[in-house]
Amino acid sequence: MSRILESPNAHLIADGNTYARSLVSYQRRETIPVQIGDLYLGSDFPIRIQSMTTVDTMDTQGSIEQSIRMIDAGCELVRITAPSVKEAQNLENIRKGLRARGYQTPLVADIHFTPNAAELAARIVEKVRINPGNYADKKRFETIDYTDSSYQAELERIRYKFLPLVNICKEYGTAMRIGTNHGSLSDRILSRYGDTPLGMVESALEFLRICEDEKYYNIVLSMKSSNTQVMVEAYRLLSKKLADGQFKAYPLHLGVTEAGEGEDGRIKSAVGIGTLLEDGLGDTIRVSLTEDPEFEIPVAQELARRYQSRASISTPIPTFNSKVVGMDSPINPFAHERRITKPLGNLGGNQVPRVIADFSQVAQIQIDDLKSIGHFYLPEPDKWAMNDLGADYIFTGDVAVDFMLPNGLKQIVHAEHWNGDVHVFPLFSLDTFESSLAKHPEMNFISMDSLDIASVDRLPSEKAVLILHSENSHQMADLRRFFFELIQRAIQIPVIIQLAYPNVDANQLQLFAPTDAGGLFIDGLGDGIMLSIPYVVDKQALLNATAFGVLQASRMRISKTEYISCPSCGRTLFDLQETTARIRQVTDHLKGIKIGIMGCIVNGPGEMADADYGYVGIGKDKIALYRGQEVVKKSVQADAAVDELIQLIKDDGNWRDPQITN
Ligand code: SF4
Repeated sequence: MSRILESPNAHLIADGNTYARSLVSYQRRETIPVQIGDLYLGSDFPIRIQSMTTVDTMDTQGSIEQSIRMIDAGCELVRITAPSVKEAQNLENIRKGLRARGYQTPLVADIHFTPNAAELAARIVEKVRINPGNYADKKRFETIDYTDSSYQAELERIRYKFLPLVNICKEYGTAMRIGTNHGSLSDRILSRYGDTPLGMVESALEFLRICEDEKYYNIVLSMKSSNTQVMVEAYRLLSKKLADGQFKAYPLHLGVTEAGEGEDGRIKSAVGIGTLLEDGLGDTIRVSLTEDPEFEIPVAQELARRYQSRASISTPIPTFNSKVVGMDSPINPFAHERRITKPLGNLGGNQVPRVIADFSQVAQIQIDDLKSIGHFYLPEPDKWAMNDLGADYIFTGDVAVDFMLPNGLKQIVHAEHWNGDVHVFPLFSLDTFESSLAKHPEMNFISMDSLDIASVDRLPSEKAVLILHSENSHQMADLRRFFFELIQRAIQIPVIIQLAYPNVDANQLQLFAPTDAGGLFIDGLGDGIMLSIPYVVDKQALLNATAFGVLQASRMRISKTEYISCPSCGRTLFDLQETTARIRQVTDHLKGIKIGIMGCIVNGPGEMADADYGYVGIGKDKIALYRGQEVVKKSVQADAAVDELIQLIKDDGNWRDPQITN
């Protein structure tokens, strides 16, 4: 019997995970080329960067100026909303204005609900984006029991509505994105497939079949969600469906919807987009931040740049177990399930992944240094307080700590400096662990390079936690391969993922760490995270926030309020950035609560499907407040809406006052 079948996770082995070319080396998925004006998209071309304007589409000059700022920043495709025929018509003026200023960048019309706007825009701009959830359907939130024949009749109705657009696109050489959004699936899809990644995929395929029947192939596909697990699973499932042979291999547009702003938005985007780029998926990316669109471009460029030469610079990952080559993986990539581990202390099992702060390079650790990792000493009551980002462990290497650490912070030291104190845990290499007589009676840490795959069978089954790092230039793939070996051998030791970045700046760290660790956590691999960079003294807060951010964005550990805020567009009815900042300022201590902040009623409620509370623009200076998907205050004056939102949270018993820790 093969080792795969002996594994406790054996039931998860998918029947040929043909969604990517390899999970243990970088190989980009092969696609057909798609032409968008003079721009080509697909696996033979670089990953293209795009974004969307936020000014009103009827403001011709404003749209031109903002598009130019985006293009100058590196945007290769500019998307503009066309909610009705008048905006679709005005795309002509915007396009002419840009061409007159010497900008040839292709334009994309963003369509929801309005086929007549799409049909007009497809004659004007180089690409149209349709949302299959609302192109031919109005949302009624009904569950309908379809028979096969009534479902077929629905598909005929879609065909009738959609065919004119397909024919116009063929005639004018216009490209199309069929862009599914998790938050706006049709009642038909929800009734048949539920609110699932499969439903998202089928939503696009209904429209794709009509295109292929008409021999129209100039198509890009996307599967966006603000939930990174759902988004990753949907893209993988789509890629597998396309690879199964019924459809052509269309390029993929990657994005996380409503990712938010600042650090959280960047980390969340990197977890979702980066995970798929690591799988070799993705031909164009849009990072959706609640910021001016030109600020999205450097983030997208940084994410894409790592893959320009990844295949050629990657150190080959050595073959050890012949089962782990290319696609033969022991995990189910289409549904999140945590790797089975034996819990030890507060690590492993079903416990949330832990954060280990690496202070091994700090020469002398002071009480105040711990503020950066969420632990605050309060001299007045003479006790420690911890905020929601309090690290769980501190690794001090060879350095002694000459004060008593807070209760919630456990210390790890190099084994050669461990004096037998049972409140401190030693860190060994595998060799020294095997040879040492002095071991902690409950928990020992073992540091190992994932390139040392041949030693995997030497790992102890009891009283040990692995801190796994990789010297490989492509560390995510190397770490993933090591996890596969552990699963196939049914080795249940908890694993801390250690990522080291010797030469990155703060911006890169906040994109690279989520990319490298996010995909592992989304696949249920990893029981903790430790980030290490040189000269850490003033960077500890950054490392700590990034580590917690990765766990939050991959939905493994919720430690702060989550904001699902739309990036805004020409439909936005208030200053979204300013409002988001105001709401964040008064609610960012409400750990575990999700707040949606949406610019318009048309797409907002659907896009924040996941949120506990919603703040949605419904008209000039008018806001609707939601509890989940239910409107609870229909029309609140904008200047009172934040207070009303707080009151709503209080009425539900979900409010608590912020803790003052310094
Ligand atoms: S939710 Fe925001 S980004 Fe989406 S259509 Fe409405 S205003 Fe535009």
